[in-house]
Amino acid sequence: MRIAVVGGGISGLVAAYRLRTLLGPAADILVADRADRVGGILYTGEVAGEPLDLGAEAFVGRRPEVPALLRELGLETQLVLPAGKRPLLWSGGSAHALPEGTLMGIPARAEQMRGLVDEDTVAWIAAEPERPFTWYPDADLDVYSLIADRFGAQVAERSVDPLLGGVYAGSSRSIGVRAAVPTLAAALDAGAPSLTHAVAAALPPPSNTPVFGGIRDGYGVLLAALTEKSGARVVTDSPVTRLARSTGGWVVDPFGAVDAVVLATPAPVTARLLRTVSPVAAAAAAGIELSSSVVVALALPRHTPLPDNSGILVATGEALRAKAFTLSSRKWPHLAARDSALVRVSFGKFGDDSALSWSDADLVTVAAEDLARVTGVPIDPLGATVRRWPGGLAQYAPGHTDRVAEIESATADLAKLAVAGAYLRGVGVPACVASGDAAARRVATALS
Ligand SMILES: Cc1cc2nc3c(=O)[nH]c(=O)nc-3n(C[C@H](O)[C@H](O)[C@H](O)COP(=O)(O)OP(=O)(O)OC[C@H]3O[C@@H](n4cnc5c(N)ncnc54)[C@H](O)[C@@H]3O)c2cc1C
Repeated sequence: MRIAVVGGGISGLVAAYRLRTLLGPAADILVADRADRVGGILYTGEVAGEPLDLGAEAFVGRRPEVPALLRELGLETQLVLPAGKRPLLWSGGSAHALPEGTLMGIPARAEQMRGLVDEDTVAWIAAEPERPFTWYPDADLDVYSLIADRFGAQVAERSVDPLLGGVYAGSSRSIGVRAAVPTLAAALDAGAPSLTHAVAAALPPPSNTPVFGGIRDGYGVLLAALTEKSGARVVTDSPVTRLARSTGGWVVDPFGAVDAVVLATPAPVTARLLRTVSPVAAAAAAGIELSSSVVVALALPRHTPLPDNSGILVATGEALRAKAFTLSSRKWPHLAARDSALVRVSFGKFGDDSALSWSDADLVTVAAEDLARVTGVPIDPLGATVRRWPGGLAQYAPGHTDRVAEIESATADLAKLAVAGAYLRGVGVPACVASGDAAARRVATALS
């Protein structure tokens, strides 16, 4: 039995590993990636001589997938938790505490926004339940249109955008309500009489469980274990260029005939590969756009007096080039023990990928300048590492859930083929793990 996994990001590697556990040692599993390494957006580089994640650096720990996978791979001692510090919000040229108890930055009460938005906006939020409200069940629209209309533009730009920017490298203008805040859409569909009521219904119950988890020595450890335990033949520097049906299976150029395929490539590549075999799925996948980002990791003198916060998120419209700062040594106890203070500075948002073309030296200078501005602390890097992520994050635009439903139903008709990846049901690592796992199970069932 020969199975090709196209794309060796976390979605593809999990699919390859799960195929091995389901199909046993005899299966011939190939993982093909166009890059010179597997891992995709997961990459553990080196900063000041020690490993540091330069793509994803955390995962939502309240979801079970990553801790369960670490346990299954015998890596449970690698699981680390953050120190529990809160991020700051940079808005109007000064730092604010990130409001607590919001739904992706959307307030449940006007008081949560006091100090961050002007008093007119606070009053406008408080009076929202009294204004007439119309919602068409199953409708979708961009988050900005809903929030700016009901709570005011300042709420969208100062409270919601910084959080959406962190997850999607997008903003409330590029992201749809239904995909980004599904519980809110469900509450609206169920007939909530106002946005205020819908947010109250959609908020998760309070929990003391840490929101995030991380991996002590970086995601590279997870990638290595998946690669090894999948027993797959991993071929890098090898873009798959064409997919076609054969009698009883598939032809995957340039690798030839296989019995089954998992496509774990980004949406535009998946669209190209599916063009002739499923024009409907291909058209839906082609409608999913990507944003680009750059991460600059700085190593600073150990006692640099950074604020005692996990990071600083930036509101829309600020006079900064960076969009977020992760104060890694404050966020993660295992990184606090290092010889230098570590900070990740992120650039890039949907519609603005200019940072991709800046030189490494310029990026490091700008990262240090912006960090000095938001912390008020002189920044003197001892070392720096730059990593560019062109097209690294899928934009979940309005209509995203419909596009995904079309992709999934059209590919369900393709025997022994499954799709996986961050463009489907969540960009986060846990969702990618779930997606790779589900794709492997579909293919394994079809093969048996
Ligand atoms: C800067 C940044 C920070 C992030 N931080 C976090 C975080 O802290 N926590 C979190 O949960 N998520 C985070 N994410 C999101 C998360 O990392 C990604 O969504 C996830 O890793 C994507 O995995 P994937 O396997 O679906 O796709 P990818 O990692 O994009 O993998 C797809 C693979 O397909 C390969 N490929 C493309 N075309 C071809 C072809 N023709 N033939 C063969 N191979 C091909 C690519 O080379 C790539 O390796 C972050 C994303 C970015 C960009």
